[in-house]
Amino acid sequence: MKFISTRNKFNKKNFSEAVIQGLAEDGGLFVPENIEQKKFNFKTKGRISFNEVALEIAKHFLGNEFRDLKKIVNKAFDFAPEVVRLNEFTFILELFHGPSLAFKDFGARFLSEIISEIADKKNINFTILVATSGDTGSAVAKSFFGKNGINVVLLYPSNKITILQRKQITSLGKNIFPFEIKGTFDDCQNLVKRAFLDNELRKRLNLISANSINIGRLIPQIFYYYYAFERVSVDNAVFVVPSGNLGNLTAGILAKKMGLKISRFIAATNSNKAFKEYLKDGKITSVKVVQTISNAMDVMNPSNLERIEYLFNYDLFRMNEVITAYSVTDEETLSTIEQIYLKYKYLLDPHSATALTAWRNLKRKGETGIVLATAHPAKFINIYKPSIAKTIDFPQSLNEVLGKNETRIIIENNYKIFKKELLELF
Ligand SMILES: *Cc1c(COP(=O)(O)O)cnc(C)c1O
Repeated sequence: MKFISTRNKFNKKNFSEAVIQGLAEDGGLFVPENIEQKKFNFKTKGRISFNEVALEIAKHFLGNEFRDLKKIVNKAFDFAPEVVRLNEFTFILELFHGPSLAFKDFGARFLSEIISEIADKKNINFTILVATSGDTGSAVAKSFFGKNGINVVLLYPSNKITILQRKQITSLGKNIFPFEIKGTFDDCQNLVKRAFLDNELRKRLNLISANSINIGRLIPQIFYYYYAFERVSVDNAVFVVPSGNLGNLTAGILAKKMGLKISRFIAATNSNKAFKEYLKDGKITSVKVVQTISNAMDVMNPSNLERIEYLFNYDLFRMNEVITAYSVTDEETLSTIEQIYLKYKYLLDPHSATALTAWRNLKRKGETGIVLATAHPAKFINIYKPSIAKTIDFPQSLNEVLGKNETRIIIENNYKIFKKELLELF
């Protein structure tokens, strides 16, 4: 299949080209050229495996661009989502069983296998460059760790990510090069943007972006919508998605366009309600990002919105028929966490709790909700009351990270210094 820019349907690339390029030349985002209805016949009956679903859908998009797609899928996904039934009309789709304990592992692991194949085939070295506010960094760092021919440069803001998130990035070493920027997440993102516009740097280091605008991260997120649907198998399924840059939601919309019988979506946000504003009149007027306890969703300029507009043919009315946005305060989030824990002994992380709050408020008669749980509660241990925190099963991988040495380069927020440091490294 070919991929086109949201701004120009004549600008066609195959998957590998779109992945390496990241953003189209015209500034648009890559989307699949044909999103026609497609019926998949998964062979396994009963308890279907995630990798079977993933392989069938990957074949649909990637065709035979790669020699052994099955190997790519199996290497990327040595973990799987889990479906938990909370009550008669609510299922939780747990997406946090990967190595960094957040759903971003699905995109990052698939992307790393794809880029690694391309690096081998073409015999070139690549540099992955990414700014992170926390979860992207650990997923990307762990996914690319030790890959031949690929270096990873990660920028994160001083004191704005949790110690655990920082250690997940800085404790790896080898081909992972963390830069701590004395500034904000926006400063990190600006340095990354400038680097991508810097032809000297781009050419010399073969820069590739690993943030959620990369189509290589989006496609694998479609897999788990199909998987959940197969597992839950209900009419009137509503997917409830904790949202920031809207990558997760965009993947769901693609699945629906491909024919998956999703009745509608609820996009939950924290107090950063850009998407809710957008759905009202097509504009986002507020700009200031507020810090919340669901920090991976602290976004006011959602990067995948351009894809959603394209997928709905710029029809705001139709978009409102299919998606409802719901904004949740930190107080409501904490109260949902406590209520759900007391009632079901099920512990939500703060991101997933925004989605469950939205579902409780917007559920209609006869609907079944599939609520996406995007992170493991242990990653956010400091937001819980001590009585709840002490019940958390602390995964081995997080324990190990805490005792390790950190490597990082700490610099001022200054492009010249950043560029000089980068060129000295490689
Ligand atoms: C990134 C992230 C989100 C937001 O996902 P988008 O695809 O950017 O909308 C939600 N929850 C967690 C835990 C995340 O890391």
